[in-house]
Amino acid sequence: MGNIIWCTSFWRLKHLELDASYSIANSQPRGFELPELEFLKPTLDGLWLMPDEPDFRKKYNKALKQSHKEVAEWLDQLQGDTALACWCRSEPYTLARCHRILVALLIKTFRSDLDVRVDLKDQAWSR
Ligand SMILES: [Zn+2]
Repeated sequence: MGNIIWCTSFWRLKHLELDASYSIANSQPRGFELPELEFLKPTLDGLWLMPDEPDFRKKYNKALKQSHKEVAEWLDQLQGDTALACWCRSEPYTLARCHRILVALLIKTFRSDLDVRVDLKDQAWSR
């Protein structure tokens, strides 16, 4: 069993060899029905956070803190080649603001034993 954690887009999943795939987005594209990691969704106090809104990072980190128990439990048991999928495409401005980056940093901070990769090859809207 490998231990690569891919922070990627829905459209890249079919190109990766994975033990498990999860959605970390607030919604999923048509045709996708991945299990959802509620505590990693960009939602704060019931409202969807958008990557281009002011203080997105601060608000997302606040949301993670509110779910810290679930997040910590999930981090503890995380293993195998796993994808965490969001919509955001690789166009630099967009991806730079996607919460995938923040999730990757979170995993790297608490699970330095895992190989965490932010997948930059996705072209979400062209497929
Ligand atoms: Zn995203």
